[in-house]
Amino acid sequence: MTLSLRTNAFIDGAWTPAASGMTFRTYNPGTGEVLADVAACDREDVNLAVAAARRAFDGPWSAIAPTARGTLLRQIASLIRANAADLALLDTRNAGRPIRDTRNDLVRAADIFDFYGGLTDKLRGATIPVPPGYSAITIHEPYGVVGAIIPWNLPLVMACLKAAPALAAGNTVVLKPAEQTPLSALVLAELCQEAGLPDGVLNVVPGFGETAGAALAENTGVDKIAFTGSTEVGRLIMQAASGNIKGLTLELGGKAPNIVFADADLEMAARGALFTVFHHQGQVCAAGTRLIVERSIHDAFLGLLVEKIGRIKIGLPEDPSVHVGALISREQLERVESYVGKGLAEGGRLVTGGGALRDKVPAGGHYFRPTVFADIAPEMTVAREEIFGPVLSVLAFDGEDDAIRLANSTLYGLTAAVWTRDAGRAARLPRRIRAGTVWTNMINMMNVAVPAGGHGQSGFGNEYGIEGAEGYTRLKTVWTNFAEHPVGWAL
Ligand code: ADP
Repeated sequence: MTLSLRTNAFIDGAWTPAASGMTFRTYNPGTGEVLADVAACDREDVNLAVAAARRAFDGPWSAIAPTARGTLLRQIASLIRANAADLALLDTRNAGRPIRDTRNDLVRAADIFDFYGGLTDKLRGATIPVPPGYSAITIHEPYGVVGAIIPWNLPLVMACLKAAPALAAGNTVVLKPAEQTPLSALVLAELCQEAGLPDGVLNVVPGFGETAGAALAENTGVDKIAFTGSTEVGRLIMQAASGNIKGLTLELGGKAPNIVFADADLEMAARGALFTVFHHQGQVCAAGTRLIVERSIHDAFLGLLVEKIGRIKIGLPEDPSVHVGALISREQLERVESYVGKGLAEGGRLVTGGGALRDKVPAGGHYFRPTVFADIAPEMTVAREEIFGPVLSVLAFDGEDDAIRLANSTLYGLTAAVWTRDAGRAARLPRRIRAGTVWTNMINMMNVAVPAGGHGQSGFGNEYGIEGAEGYTRLKTVWTNFAEHPVGWAL
């Protein structure tokens, strides 16, 4: 790797240790090896970062023309591309995410900066027809300082997905990466500086959720919080953000239904069903963790899945032939094990998997076998709670209404998928499913130009697309009286 590791916080254009002098350890979950000791930021560091972001917002950043801002963002995209191989390996080592996935992540990360770089001068308001002698226009204004709090599953993509649209809309940013995966966000800060982003425009404060994260969510100098993570923490952030009525985007958990009808292309559906729940060890909020299968094909489809599961290669994430890497930590592995216990205790039938994998994988890593539970009812814990592990819950349905009932029997509403060859059904079902994104005859496709967001307790606000940047703006309406119409009473 030629990129140098950054382990200090990046505040106001400078690399700074935490004010407390404290550090925390970050690991390679694929091997258990220590990667680095990183500055453990807390309230004081967050205060400094927010103050720097405010100065940059009031100063140089607002003085840069939108088109020039776009050029800067596209320069960041170029630098991400130039360092893609190293950054992919860094995320693979820090997140346990297979290199075959992080290589794609890097394409996406650069595309995100390119896409939003192209939007800086296109966030137009409207001129609204009003009575003669008046005008009414709307302006998309930046919030000011955005606090971004991100999870560990796709570290660099998450950092870019917050930073790029926020910057494109004219905000400055304080980013807190997840404590498990702080490294690539720090490299991103370095690339932003190299691209010419003024000091203070993007600040990165690594640290824990309860300390640095909570301090950022509460800080009254922050105008908007963009958060991706668990619904539980999303709730805390909502409360913390209420102090100064911050803007808020929440991308939270999911328990996505993946509905397979008997008339579907079952080979395609099986591939999709396995990919969605087992890639990255199921540590993806959009994972289709509830497989809802038409009863007439239930047994045959399960057979197909089990046969294919035997061909999934699990192992060292940086091996390019590996499909599935490691869980993020020992705690996560124990959490997944405890869900398997609940699944069994509540009457689930374990079809395959069910425990840690120790054969032919690095001894210090946290590997879990792809696990399938059948005979699952919607009330069972494994059908209700987000496990964030490679555990598939299979439910059988009879008829379209039953499929919808099961699909919507969740508090979440992030994504869903439907597999059918019936064109009418393919058009009907997405409208009846409560989810922010519905795929038909495909699954887990994302594109920088296509908005995505949660319904229900999966959150609110959109990421990606033009909507993703608009979410970092507030609409201002300006009325003008240019005919000198009299105002108020003729007193
Ligand atoms: P996950 O389950 O994916 O780890 P979390 O919701 O626990 O998701 O964490 C997502 C992000 O939220 C991380 O950056 C974490 O440090 C941060 N976080 C955790 N707790 C809090 C909190 N109380 N306030 C603010 N941020 C937090």
